[in-house]
Order: sequence, then structure tokens, then C-alpha cells
Amino acid sequence: MADELPAARGQGSGSGYAAYSYLTAGEDFRQFELAPQFGRVPAYAAGLSAEQQQRAGRLLTDLMVISLHDHPVRFPLRMEETPEYNRTGRQHAAYAGLAASGMTVVFDNLMDGTACVTGNAPWRWDDVITDLGMRQADLAHQRDVMTIRTIADIDEAHRDRRVGLVFGLEAATPIENELDRLDVLYGLGLRQIGIAYSDANALTALDVCRHSDKPVFLTHAGARAVWNTSRMKPDHVLRAVAETGGVIGMSAAPHTTLSAGHPRHTIESVMDHFRYCADLVGIDHVGFGPDTLYGDHVKLHTIFAKLLSLGATRGPSFEPVRYVDGLENPTENFANITGWLVSHGFGDEEIRAVLGGNIYRALQGIWVSLPPQARAGMANQGQHESDRGEHAYRHRDHEHPSGGGP
Ligand SMILES: [Zn+2]
Repeated sequence: MADELPAARGQGSGSGYAAYSYLTAGEDFRQFELAPQFGRVPAYAAGLSAEQQQRAGRLLTDLMVISLHDHPVRFPLRMEETPEYNRTGRQHAAYAGLAASGMTVVFDNLMDGTACVTGNAPWRWDDVITDLGMRQADLAHQRDVMTIRTIADIDEAHRDRRVGLVFGLEAATPIENELDRLDVLYGLGLRQIGIAYSDANALTALDVCRHSDKPVFLTHAGARAVWNTSRMKPDHVLRAVAETGGVIGMSAAPHTTLSAGHPRHTIESVMDHFRYCADLVGIDHVGFGPDTLYGDHVKLHTIFAKLLSLGATRGPSFEPVRYVDGLENPTENFANITGWLVSHGFGDEEIRAVLGGNIYRALQGIWVSLPPQARAGMANQGQHESDRGEHAYRHRDHEHPSGGGP
């Protein structure tokens, strides 16, 4: 199907900019036929009443909505072309899809374990830098989507109804044994990094929580008590993350967050994890990191099974799906999540918290923010030298690990 817009939801269709359209496709870079941003799979039938639909639409439009983990880019229509597509270094942001998503901020995890631009092994430093730079060069050619580096940027995105991308890496692998590379990545706009790929085991996750004096994110995960696989987190890890003041983002990558009640992966299985985690650690420590993309995610898993270390996942049997109904791509995720919350009796305050409020609160405690007097000092050279020095170098303490798989 073509890229027609769905029924008005979220923030609109944007200005119509297409990724890398400042260049000539096919001449300046190899062109691939890309997966559509709308209508790749049938729309989710949520079965809301007109009143519920109206309330959900209003909440999605008004609230700050933050995805703790996604890949808001278009993959090739023929997913098997992905290795060659990534070889160009140019993953195409889904501008129209993002504009219609209702999201304020997306933690954009770039090419993650498929970042093979110059070689066949992922996570090489040069490849990660290429990916990060290329995406931001493209962003610089339009105004609907912006890079988020500070809390003030999030406020701006929300106020101006733009979509903000927080660039992140699912693994710290590219820094090798060179801690200064954290500073380099920070300088280039990166604001989130995972401690290990793909599954930080329970001990590692607990160590992270113990050693961090700031909130920790479990960016895309689920509860092992709901679905017993190694990718899902045991209760004591979920509790440890919440105790740091952090947030657990529910994942919806195909065949991950299943449940005994819903062993066919849909939004209902994911919400079983949401309910369980909210009951376990409190609604102030849960959110969503759907880990979705534009294209055939199930096929991607088969192509990159080894790099995405999916082979090790064993667990209860389930019914394989072609896609996760209700949480298939970054455009539909939050409309359907909001609809589900509305139709399951959640109040506006609770919905505000889980759609983005909790993550925003945690980020206020994590990211560098200059106090007003330090800003004044920077404007007025020579004053507040010590403040400047301290704040300029403290961000290393603020890099926060996250668990979860690809
Ligand atoms: Zn991911």
C-alpha cells in the first residue's frame, strides 16, 4: 500500500520532507525500495467506543509521549536487502510516520546490532559514528524532527509539536577500553547507552543499579514472571531498577513479551507485562520502549538471528506471528497504547505518567543541566569558572546503562 495517511491521530503529517532528499537517490547513494510508513499491515481494531476514542485522541495530542526504545527508520521492503542497505550508512528516518505518531520523544537506537557499514561485525566505532553523523546530517535539512540533547530540548519539542530523537546505543561495545569515547559520543549528541548487548544478566543489572547514583532505565524489557525466558527480567531486577528512581520500558519486539494468557504476540500480551510491572514496582516506574521499526521485523530477526543473539532464547512454546498486532510500528504504538489504557479504566494522571511523565522525571535526575548561575557565567566570561568546570565534566556520571535485548 502507498503512504496514505491514516485517520487523523497524533500531530499531523509534517512538512513532507523525505530522508536524504537533498541528494539524488540512485546517484549520490544506492537506492532501495523501502517499507511503507503506513498500511504495511492491517490497522489494529481496538474496539473503542466513540467516547473512548475521543478521550484517547485528546490525551495523545496533549501529553508528552516518550518511547524509551525504538528504531524510527524505514527498512527495505525486501528485508533481505538490509545488510546492503546498511552498507550505505544511510538508514532513512520515517518523517511522515513520526509526524503522525503522537510521540514527543523517541529514544532512537540507530542501527544497533545490525550496524555493519564497513565490515561484517556490528558495533565497530567507525560504523557507529557514521550512522550517528549521517542521521543528524539528514535531520539538519528539515524542521519537523529534532535531536534532543537536554531537558529544555524536550520541552521545546513538546511546545512546538515537533518530534525529538534521543540518540542511543544498545551496547557500550564501540567504546572498547577507551572511556574517553563516552565523551566523544556525548559530544556528538548521544544521550543513552546500554551496558551490554543483548541481555545484561541479572547480576550485571543489579550491579548497575547498585553503582549508579542516578535513575537507571531498563529501556525495553518485560517480566520473567509473566513469560519465562532469559530476555525477561526477574522481579528483583525490576525492583532494583525502580528503587533507583528509574523506569522499565515494555518491549514489543516480535516474540519477546508474550504471556501465558496471550501466547500469540499482540498488544494484549505486552500489556500483561505492563500490568504486572506496574503492580510490582508502582505505576511511577513503568513506561514503554516498544522496539519497533518500519518493515518486516520478524524477517529481520531471521536475517540477523546471529548478530541479534536471538538463538539463545528458549522458553515456553508460542504461536509465531507475522507481526505484533497493535504494536507493529512507531506510528501506531502510542495511539493503541493510549486506547488500551483508556478502555481499561486508567485515569488521566496514570496515563500521563506511563506515556512519558515517568521517563521525563527520571531524565531530569540523569542528564546534565546547568544551573542558572552557571549559564550566566558562560555568557559573562571569567565568572563562575569552577561551576563551568564541574558541570562540563560531570556528564560521564550521567551516562546511564540500560538492559534489554535487541
Ligand atoms: Zn532495538
